Amino acid sequence: MAGKQHQEMLEKYAEAIVKVGLNLRAGQRLIITLAATRGVPHQFAPLVREIAKAAYAVGARYVDAVWGDEEMLRLRAQYAPRDSFNEYSDWQIDAVTRMIENGDALLSIAGSNPDLLGGLDAEVVGMIQQTHLQKFGKISEKVTKNAVNWCVVAAAGEAWAQKVFPELAAEKAQEKLWKAIFETTRIDQPDPIAAWEEHIVKLRARANYLQAKQYTALHYSAPGTDFTLGLPAGHKWISAQSMAQNGVAFTANMPTEEVFTLPDRNRADGVVTSTFPLSYGGTLIEDFQVTFENGRVVKVSAKKGEAALQKLVDTDEGSHRLGEVALVPASSPIAQRGHLFYNTLFDENASCHIAIGRAYRFTLAGGEELSDEEFMAQGGNVSLNHVDFMIGSPKMDIDGVKKDGAREPVMRQGEWAIDG
Ligand code: ZN
Ligand code: ZN
Repeated sequence: MAGKQHQEMLEKYAEAIVKVGLNLRAGQRLIITLAATRGVPHQFAPLVREIAKAAYAVGARYVDAVWGDEEMLRLRAQYAPRDSFNEYSDWQIDAVTRMIENGDALLSIAGSNPDLLGGLDAEVVGMIQQTHLQKFGKISEKVTKNAVNWCVVAAAGEAWAQKVFPELAAEKAQEKLWKAIFETTRIDQPDPIAAWEEHIVKLRARANYLQAKQYTALHYSAPGTDFTLGLPAGHKWISAQSMAQNGVAFTANMPTEEVFTLPDRNRADGVVTSTFPLSYGGTLIEDFQVTFENGRVVKVSAKKGEAALQKLVDTDEGSHRLGEVALVPASSPIAQRGHLFYNTLFDENASCHIAIGRAYRFTLAGGEELSDEEFMAQGGNVSLNHVDFMIGSPKMDIDGVKKDGAREPVMRQGEWAIDG
């Protein structure tokens, strides 16, 4: 892509992030946190500056950015003293917490190297992850309650691009990944904002249909999968747009193709087979199966990365259970691209998925107000982790189970079997 054309796309992307993703309100402050990435000056600076311009154009009061550098994290993992990995940049947590308390907006830009900590001492990597989950928990808790308007988007980091397109030289790979980002976020369309509005309405119709059905469970069948997942009373089907507690309607993920809710933490039974590899903590987990009884993982097996999968499940009690069920047709534009992105923001939108760990509070009616114990008593799951894995395929059928036990088709051969 030529320089000028790329610049124009960045401007449109920034505008859509500010107007659709965050729906930033006049007078709000915005803090942008960047997944650590390679390079000084920061390779995402051109995008961040366009976002700042777009934010001020809609009346933002103050735009701030926390610039990361992934090499610093790798160096720390390699050379810092072993007894230091329980330490953390607490000032970052404090800064973001203050913004949330003030009703400001949060934007996170993903795009770091999926293999950043690959090949390093697994125990050290585990300690770093555990510390991050614990320290960041304070923010995650507020984000899962939609305390303020927040959004996660991606930028084509160099190392990430080379992971996605290993056959291409660095610059070409990055160009191709930017193109994929612009296409999947509708930025290549003549009017991206209008295209998003239309997309949001379509997804909402699916969510409304499922909401009206009040299924008590979903049953999945596909090669290697025979699985029943309970849905608790009061579950809310959510799609692209949500309402934050500060009163702003926002779109938390760009791209997004999913319609999702929470499963009952005590009602998952049977076996489910993954249909895409899972990239977790710098390890690729491939061809895996998870068996559940009464909502709890009782067995995992994987052709590759089984130890990493077991470690994920063993994070805490809640990571033995599920916190999200999401429906995405096999014909999703992201699935159609035919390759993995090694980034959840994209990969989860390629396929039906379920998540190990924490449920989003806003997927249960009144969930934001409940204590952890009350949330769990109503079927919600609590964990430090939330990790999506893909189970959908063109061979998957899903039935909705009604209270009287009657079944209705929800998806057939990976596609929606419902109107709306
Ligand atoms: Zn999801
Ligand atoms: Zn998820």
